[in-house]
Amino acid sequence: MIPDRQEHVMRLHRQAPVIDCHNDSLIAVLNGDAHYNPLKHRPPRPRRLWEHGASGHWDFPRALAAGQSGQVTNLLVPRVKEDPCKSILKAYRQLQLDLAAAPHMALLATTAAAVEQARHEGKVAVILTIEGGEGLEGDLDLLHVYHQLGVRSLGLTWMYRNALAEGNWEDSGAGMTSFGRAVIREMNALRMLVDVAHATEQTFWDALEASSAPVICSHTSCRSLVKDFHTHAVSRYLSDEQMKAIASQGGVVGIFFSANRELDDDAADATDLARFIAHAATVCGPAHVGLGSDFDGGHPPHGLEDMRGLPNLTNALIDLGFSDAELVGILGGNWLRVFRMVWGG
Ligand SMILES: [Zn+2]
Repeated sequence: MIPDRQEHVMRLHRQAPVIDCHNDSLIAVLNGDAHYNPLKHRPPRPRRLWEHGASGHWDFPRALAAGQSGQVTNLLVPRVKEDPCKSILKAYRQLQLDLAAAPHMALLATTAAAVEQARHEGKVAVILTIEGGEGLEGDLDLLHVYHQLGVRSLGLTWMYRNALAEGNWEDSGAGMTSFGRAVIREMNALRMLVDVAHATEQTFWDALEASSAPVICSHTSCRSLVKDFHTHAVSRYLSDEQMKAIASQGGVVGIFFSANRELDDDAADATDLARFIAHAATVCGPAHVGLGSDFDGGHPPHGLEDMRGLPNLTNALIDLGFSDAELVGILGGNWLRVFRMVWGG
């Protein structure tokens, strides 16, 4: 990157509240990065979020190096054998330990104001989500408990069918259940974000109809550009029509970073990823697009091997002609707006 461009990118990262709306880094830390351990015959080296890891994609030091001020991190991937509530509480405990070890680097944010505060103090705000209604174990009381703990977003499904709705890997066309609709009503009352990432098409439309607040899709991509759906069903990626529907309700679509998988091209890089973001911005307007890396859960392209590569993506977006104001929104301003709108205060 030429020095002038580097300065431009860094200026944008200072101007924007740089926010990423989905990663699995907390769970990766808990699992010892087992999923990404290249030395399968050796036990994975444990890492913590407060230290610069030699593996994985995200931790506090790497977030701060990228000028990041907000990160939504996930407490649950429902494939684990343990019961979902226990998994959530164990992940929460791990986060408490990591935050306590590094109060100068990170804080737990439950309001938009706390995200702003983190930004002004040079810290990264950690925002909690649960990826899959399995975490509720069929009980609305648990939703209230999670909200009390600071969880501000819930993904209705991960890949599978649960008590709320069908996920992208188990699609009979049934969409949401009556319990799922009750959960959305309760989430609207609690002012929690409804996240339709991994929803089937019918679940998606049911959720948008059921929610009285804007709905987000924290980590997805553009169905019309995907060349290889790999293990995902088509509904894992939003159609242009779906993206427009989210925007028309005031929500935001987060684009995940796995452009190499979607393009079936191991050589894909930040420029290829930028084209996905540009497509989403064309479809639903640049004010309704954000980052949803899926770091420590996905397969990022060249130049984005971990969060420190984010300037390469910003650089590629500048090349595509986005204005500074649009980029401030895409880098995180759009997420912060919808957080403020849904969480209130
Ligand atoms: Zn996911």
